[in-house]
This record gives sequence, C-alpha cells and structure tokens, in this order.
Amino acid sequence: MAIRIPRRTALGLAAAAVVVAGTGLALKALPGESSAADPPDLRLGQHTCDQCGMVISDERFAAGWRASGSQQRFDDIGCMITNYRNAGRPNVKAWVHDYDSHSWIPAAPATFVVSSTINSPMAYGVAALNTSEAAAALATASGGSVTGWDPLVETLPAGAQHG
Ligand SMILES: [Zn+2]
Repeated sequence: MAIRIPRRTALGLAAAAVVVAGTGLALKALPGESSAADPPDLRLGQHTCDQCGMVISDERFAAGWRASGSQQRFDDIGCMITNYRNAGRPNVKAWVHDYDSHSWIPAAPATFVVSSTINSPMAYGVAALNTSEAAAALATASGGSVTGWDPLVETLPAGAQHG
C-alpha cells in the first residue's frame, strides 16, 4: 500500500534527516558538536553568569564560550577571563558582544577597550569592539586604553567580584 506524504512534510523529513546525519554541515563536526562554532545560547534576563552568578542582563558586556559539548555564559568580559584563567585556559571558542552594535563577535580577533569609566556589570571596565577604529574612538571618549584578546587575558587585573 502506497503512503502519500504531502510534499512539504517530505521535504521537512529530508531536512531533519540531513541534520541528524550531520552531512549537510559545512563544518566537520562530530555529533553533538554541530553548534560549537556558534555563539552560546543566551537569554538575557534569564541565564546567569557562570563566574559570579549574577543574571546576565546587559547585552553589551555579555560573553561566553563553547567547547565540545558545553557552553558557558558571563555577564562581564572580565568574568569570562577570570573563569578562563581559573579553568586552565581550556580550548574554547570565546565570544563577546560588539559594544556598539550589540552583536556577537568572536573574542580572539576583537579589539578591547579597558577604562574605569566603562560601567560593566562587575566593574572590570572592559568593552569589545568589532573594529580597531571603533575601539580607538571609545578609548578616546572613555579615557581608556586599547588592547587585544591575548594581552587582555594576560594583564586584566583579577577582580574581587564575589559577593
Ligand atoms: Zn559575572
């Protein structure tokens, strides 16, 4: 007996099969790691910081990383760096938000501005920007300094941010 499947349903089943098999993905990801290249799932006002426990509510400073099969979220770029150091600098893909557009951007190539006048949630005073020009402008406006991800991880003062 022939089973007639509506065209739309058939296509949906085919797409689901591709996703399950992983064959349609551009990245050679293992099962369960198919989203490792994407920013963390973040629901503002619901998820809490994996370092300090505060609710993540200011998108400009929200950060996070993905590793194989796991993800972490932070309310402050400084919280992410503190956690990253404490975790022994695991192999992760870290993300931050562009201070101007509020879009997720990869942390490694981003430009950072550190200033005591940048009011980040846990007072680390770090903002990330997508371009060095935008970072220079914010540094001038905030009286801050411009740096990159690697030197920031090395030099950012550890905050006494608990409690
Ligand atoms: Zn935090």
